Amino acid sequence: MKKKKPEQHPETLAIHAGREPDPASGALSPAIHPSSTFLTREDGGGYVYGRYGNPNRNAVETALAELEGGLGAACFASGVAAAMAVFQSLTPGDRVLVSADAYHGIRTQLRQRLIPWGLDVVFVDTSDPAAISRAITPGTRLVWVETPSNPLLKISDLAALAELARGAGATTVCDNTFSTSLLQRPFEQGFDLVMYSSTKYLGGHSDLIGGAVIVRDDSGWLERLHQAQKLAGAVPAPFDCWLLLRSLATLPMRVRAQNANAAALAEWLQNHPAVERVYYPGLPEHPGHETARRQMRGFGGMLSITLKDGPDFARALPHRTRLFRPATSLGGLESLIEHRASIEGPDSTTPAHLVRLSAGGEHIEDLIADLQRALEA
Ligand SMILES: *Cc1c(COP(=O)(O)O)cnc(C)c1O
Repeated sequence: MKKKKPEQHPETLAIHAGREPDPASGALSPAIHPSSTFLTREDGGGYVYGRYGNPNRNAVETALAELEGGLGAACFASGVAAAMAVFQSLTPGDRVLVSADAYHGIRTQLRQRLIPWGLDVVFVDTSDPAAISRAITPGTRLVWVETPSNPLLKISDLAALAELARGAGATTVCDNTFSTSLLQRPFEQGFDLVMYSSTKYLGGHSDLIGGAVIVRDDSGWLERLHQAQKLAGAVPAPFDCWLLLRSLATLPMRVRAQNANAAALAEWLQNHPAVERVYYPGLPEHPGHETARRQMRGFGGMLSITLKDGPDFARALPHRTRLFRPATSLGGLESLIEHRASIEGPDSTTPAHLVRLSAGGEHIEDLIADLQRALEA
């Protein structure tokens, strides 16, 4: 068991966790260790082989665990690899409940790989506690929740779900990619695991693909996930770990700026005549607003809008903006805009007149001017 450090604020942990000056050189910025293998020690300790562990991966796993307030973390080569590691740690036949509007790539992974492998997957509207009560059985092994969800920004009540799951003896996992530990702390609501696509806000610069799972306590899950790294091998490269650790230092500042921009955009878009509806949990009209206020410390940098002029206009809009780049993904410093149904493909359930926005770190007046011009063009 790890010794608990005195509590520090997230801004401090983001800069210092997992970072010790290099004892050999005194360098403050850590060295990158591309080595695939390490000297075998007589005492059997230390690093052995790059797939099992590496100083850069170890450092970023330490930082993520401390930021989240968990026991430990396991990093993967992508967010979907992190999800795969969780699901493959179960046994065929196990019942799993998953948010019906979880990230489409994870739903596809379940449909095309894990249901055929034998998982008994049930997609449920986790924003509706009654639906969860009906779906959860004593044999349920895992409850996978994404809140706010993607792209409708639905809010699920984490504390209520944790309690229902505990009653059934199920492990709870929150895909916290949209919020990060700065805005939402699932462990404090009773969740067991927190999963990230670190490609998004944690990386924050649109220059790496990665995933992570953080484990709250001594439940056996950390060993299982380390085994998944070792046996399935979807591990991140040392340079990607280095980039991610570097990015974590600015996470609190970035998230604060993106959060403020998204809130201002939501309010402005709500009053624009071309916009049918704004999906943003910070708006009092949002059906999950009260729950979001209770369990979040900010409503995030993501929002979606539907457009009165319909699907064709929604498909065209991303090519009319200049600052908002027409690209999928989210959480980078540059604002992004996308027609979500096109990205999700033929089995998408996203409304065809919906556009998803990821607020970046630009000045809000420039972002609004950009959208104004595009919406009126
Ligand atoms: C992007 C994303 C994922 C998948 O992560 P990758 O890094 O693209 O594999 C999972 N969940 C959410 C909420 C995401 O936005």
